[in-house]
Amino acid sequence: MTGLLTVVGLGPGNPRYLTPSASEALASATDIVGYGPYVDLVPERLGLRRHASDNRVELDRARFALDLAAKGAHVAIVSGGDPGVFAMAAAVFEAVDNGDPAWRSLDIRVEPGITAMLAAAARVGAPLGGDFCAMSLSDNLKPWEIVAARLRAAVAADFVVALYNPISSARPWQLGAALEIVAETHGPDTPIVLARAVGRPDERIRILPLAEVEASIADMSTIVIIGATTTRLIERPEGEQPYVYTPRFYGERP
Ligand code: SAH
Repeated sequence: MTGLLTVVGLGPGNPRYLTPSASEALASATDIVGYGPYVDLVPERLGLRRHASDNRVELDRARFALDLAAKGAHVAIVSGGDPGVFAMAAAVFEAVDNGDPAWRSLDIRVEPGITAMLAAAARVGAPLGGDFCAMSLSDNLKPWEIVAARLRAAVAADFVVALYNPISSARPWQLGAALEIVAETHGPDTPIVLARAVGRPDERIRILPLAEVEASIADMSTIVIIGATTTRLIERPEGEQPYVYTPRFYGERP
């Protein structure tokens, strides 16, 4: 087969955060497949075919892209951030695992991108400086009991936790429930970072103590970083956002 399928990470939204390698994959594609707003981020080019779809049907989109590639197209299937983080890459491999055996001989590549968690962390300092983990709070693809048990274990182990998909109109209560789980083990002053639309013109970053976070200030474009008990704030002059960091060092400095 001469077709090619590249799963491309577009980064958090600012074109300066797109890797040169991802950019090359987009420039050499004959077909772009993805969720409408991400497809729109790819510059127009003569002969480039665009296949925008809605956000719900990742597996169908993956099969569609595999089918195009199997017919010889050079397909770029795009995701925001990194395609391997709660995004298209896993859907593509799931489709291959369960689909047409011919798809196994396709050349499938993954181009990494800067994931929301890393872009958000960079805005506030170094909150992920110690051990951390990432979770999707969405219970569309897994039961809430698993989400809750995993979050409880993560905060009990004192990881910094990045929460993707914290809230949506169809999932209005999950973030509130998650914050209650955090409060079971963490004090009211635990730093929480709410980073919205990082890298886009409407970016908004807030750093609040756990006790002051209300779920309603997050939306679908927000990533929430829950500090560990060791995460610290460095206060700065009036009007300046504090720095947030998690030290790597445990114990007393000599
Ligand atoms: N593949 C993406 C994540 C997809 S899940 C990545 O690697 O970033 C979608 C969730 O990612 C959103 O609900 C939000 O929590 C987070 N997200 C994506 N882009 C973001 C951005 N620019 N700023 C803040 N959060 C973002």
